[in-house]
Amino acid sequence: THTIRLILGDQLNAKHSWFRRKDPGVLYVMMEMKQETDYVVHHRQKVLAFFGAMRAFAKALDSAGHRMRYIQLDDSDNRQSLTQNLESIIEQNNGATLECQQPDEYRLDHQLRSWAGAKDITLTWYDTEHFITGRNSLKTYFPDNKNYLMETFYRKVRQQYDILMENGSPVGGRWNYDKENQKKLPVGQNIEPPLVFSNDVSDIDTLLNKYHVKTMGKASPEQFIWPLNRQQSKQLLEHFCQFGLPNFGRYQDTMATADTVNNAHWSLYHSRLSFSLNTKMLHPLEVVKAAIETWSNNQERISLAQIEGFCRQIIGWREFVRGIYWAHMPDYKDLNALNHNHPLPSFYWTGDTKMNCLHHSIKQSLDYAYAHHIQRLMVTGNFALLAGVSPDALDDWYLGIYIDAIEWVEMPNTRGMSQYADGGLIATKPYIASANYMQKMGHYCKGCYYDPKKKTGDKACPFNSLYWHFIERHKEQFKENHRMRMMYQVWNKKTEEEQQALIKQAEVYLDNINQL
Ligand code: FAD
Ligand code: SF4
Repeated sequence: THTIRLILGDQLNAKHSWFRRKDPGVLYVMMEMKQETDYVVHHRQKVLAFFGAMRAFAKALDSAGHRMRYIQLDDSDNRQSLTQNLESIIEQNNGATLECQQPDEYRLDHQLRSWAGAKDITLTWYDTEHFITGRNSLKTYFPDNKNYLMETFYRKVRQQYDILMENGSPVGGRWNYDKENQKKLPVGQNIEPPLVFSNDVSDIDTLLNKYHVKTMGKASPEQFIWPLNRQQSKQLLEHFCQFGLPNFGRYQDTMATADTVNNAHWSLYHSRLSFSLNTKMLHPLEVVKAAIETWSNNQERISLAQIEGFCRQIIGWREFVRGIYWAHMPDYKDLNALNHNHPLPSFYWTGDTKMNCLHHSIKQSLDYAYAHHIQRLMVTGNFALLAGVSPDALDDWYLGIYIDAIEWVEMPNTRGMSQYADGGLIATKPYIASANYMQKMGHYCKGCYYDPKKKTGDKACPFNSLYWHFIERHKEQFKENHRMRMMYQVWNKKTEEEQQALIKQAEVYLDNINQL
């Protein structure tokens, strides 16, 4: 062996230039470790999905003729730490050099760098050849200022990659079709069932028990639903292009339950591609190109608003939050601009709450390791923000529970977009909403124990008084924010008694939050 090449669990990019040539002197190394299962409590399905996909990737490389060293969780010489395992492998392959692909998480990047520095090990870094913008993309796209706007970023990326462009202008004449989207789903809508797989990962499940890996949520290891290889990921992409894309933008921001829509109540028209993308089994441009091709061949069925909305998520938001992460780590993980310090309500771990919106979104997350964006942002995120939950506690929860949760994408979304803990680097105003929004956009309020119309008194929806509690307690910070001014006008027009009643109601709820 002259070269050892490390492949991390989210670097399953079969198209990487590393694999173009077979060299018997190169040893590829992958490892399952307690270090990775234990840094936060993960969803059972998340651990099964990562180990399952890693095993499939190693097998594919091996079959293609590359030399592999795959360390299983139960291997007798597994030291359960990335750097300690690497040390053993370096020792066993005396004189070999070490190469790796740049980790996407600061945590692993820092671990590798400081270890190599301390041990005087030469480490050669490669790009993962996955993202379409660089780690330092914000410096490139915003050389002069710090007012990072996703929309500006997105337009530049679209121009650079010639995506949905025509003679230098956006196709259709507009950059953004959000206004035509954001519809509420009709009750009783028939949606194509989500494509689920039937992978057997029961051997990994047994191992997790044996090694006492603490997890949350449900899993069916004999019929594991998530894609574990490139072929399944491509099938999922095809399924989305056919059945999800025609309604993607239109119902992107809506919320439903098993009682109100048929079949796909938990995923609606969303793609569920985030796991395949974040593990790099799929490339973002490949996904966008497949969707654009489907749209261009089916324009009578798929409007421009649908494809534009989808591309924006992938070449816009996904790349943008990564830029924010790398521009601000490691300080970003400690930001708490609103000084929120309450513990996470206990029902986040069970879904046992009378609030129907939270009950559904959390139960679904525990069942599937998945919630769509609006459930994450406007249900669990919104409630935590109104209730003043500590961003640290919340980061741990989001990082653990979702199949696609890797810190570079989880943290800017949670701490930044959803909790405003970064003081507005990502969001221009806090994403807060009362029951009014919930009723307008989804089906949860119907059949809820609480009354969405009531602000105070028995069975008043907690979102209503907590909303005004937030407005009052953060007035110094937001009263001058032009996007919040209207809310402060409404608040200031209320009589003192009305204000007092709302604050008192919210305080009772906050004092008894685990009983809501
Ligand atoms: P779709 O709705 O089908 O969207 C298509 C793709 O666009 C997604 O697969 C994803 O790759 C990308 N995308 C859409 N929105 C975003 C966004 N805001 N940021 C980055 N990419 C986006 N996404 C993660 O991948 N991992 C996380 O840990 C994560 N944590 C989140 C936490 C909070 C509080 C919030 C509000 C959002 C979070 N997101 C995260 C973003 C988004 O909710 C998920 O990417 C999306 O729900 C995944 O489901 P999907 O593949 O069906 O997405
Ligand atoms: Fe959620 Fe309130 Fe609606 Fe119940 S009434 S579902 S708690 S917003």
